[in-house]
Amino acid sequence: MSDFAQFNLLAPIQTALAEAGYFLPTPIQEQAIPRLMSGADLLGIAQTGTGKTAAFALPILDRLGRHRERNSHTTRHKPLARTTRVLILAPTRELASQIDASFAKYGRHLRISRAVVYGGVGQYSQVRAMERGVDILVATPGRLIDLIQQRHIVLDTLEVLVLDEADRMLDMGFIHDIRRIIALLPEKRQTLLFSATMPKEIALLAEGLLRDPARVEVTPPASTVDRVKQKVLFVDKSNKRHLLHAILSQEEVRRALVFTRTKHGADKVTRDLEIGNIRAAAIHGNKSQGAREKALSDFRAGHVRVLVATDIAARGIDVAEITHVINYDLPNEPESYVHRIGRTARANTDGNAISFCDADERPYLRDIERLTRQEVAVDLEHSYHSESAANALGVAVRKPSNGGRGQPSQSPRQGRPVASSTRRPQAATARFSRGRGSVAQ
Ligand code: AMP
Repeated sequence: MSDFAQFNLLAPIQTALAEAGYFLPTPIQEQAIPRLMSGADLLGIAQTGTGKTAAFALPILDRLGRHRERNSHTTRHKPLARTTRVLILAPTRELASQIDASFAKYGRHLRISRAVVYGGVGQYSQVRAMERGVDILVATPGRLIDLIQQRHIVLDTLEVLVLDEADRMLDMGFIHDIRRIIALLPEKRQTLLFSATMPKEIALLAEGLLRDPARVEVTPPASTVDRVKQKVLFVDKSNKRHLLHAILSQEEVRRALVFTRTKHGADKVTRDLEIGNIRAAAIHGNKSQGAREKALSDFRAGHVRVLVATDIAARGIDVAEITHVINYDLPNEPESYVHRIGRTARANTDGNAISFCDADERPYLRDIERLTRQEVAVDLEHSYHSESAANALGVAVRKPSNGGRGQPSQSPRQGRPVASSTRRPQAATARFSRGRGSVAQ
């Protein structure tokens, strides 16, 4: 079995990893670390929880540590005033702080200087931290631009740039700032871009930014998908809100995460629920940091039972005991379906994923079933069943033999049996299970 020794990281880094209880690299670490150590650019498609931070932090620390070793007899290892060798851009201050803490943890036996800058707090201590220059700077784009404009930070000696959660930065409106920052960087550098999804704008950004990049991709574990009870409900668009209300009125739905495709949709669903006396909060990229934090903490504490989210905003949310994930809109990227339903069935509990599907969304359902290599069971028994949505792809849905009463039936389509829960989606690869120090299949 392979372990961290395979990478030949500097001994102080290996010691820190052992102290942190990391013994086996996660799949993204296994793929990314050797490529980054050879100096390649990287496109990483991965979400939080996969171990992506260490995947980029370890090679960066190794590079900085070796540079220091080589130059220890001179002053060349010292950064110049107000500069940084490595810049990591992250969308939120929480993520920036987490990344900085990861560098501190893995680099604790190296003499590496760090600073972290983000908005929403005074800049004085950040300016002080940058005065002598640092090896590693973690920053949110807005504050970084402010400090550059005031000449407290200079980027012309940068060696490594990391864009973390690029799709979320896009969603939060940072793309313009990012382009401005990139324009200030030296041409010769190593560049890494991580994103959980690949919308067109991110693909374009990556294309312009990365040189012949190595591409690594990890998706949530098959085991999660297998443990989730999935069903699809055919419904007309106009009835989705009634159906949602009916489902959320059931007692067993103790904590539900509802996904919409758009931010506007998330707000509308939240309003409809509140009109129907169901407390709900929305979380998406147009909400302020404070509003998002409040929504999340209310949801976590159980003050609101329902959180309505867009794909990008929901990433990184790690809330225990979400009993139901409800796809109010099906995602047009099938990978998002796997990410979404992975929010339930955490920590070995079973979870439920309920997907609404209107006539226009039938192609999305087909794509999801292709990706997961499973047919999603159909619930025909709900009050808002739509025959036209069910038949939208020209496939007749068989009516259950009990005449539509009793338990919700799960009817196979096209006369084939519903996929057994042990079938494993081929596209989903192994992913790291948080904090256990092992790779979970
Ligand atoms: P990330 O995806 O970077 O947010 O990492 C998810 C969590 O996994 C963090 O709490 C890390 O400390 C932890 N972690 C990352 N890599 C490993 C590993 N190889 N072994 C054990 N824990 C890890």
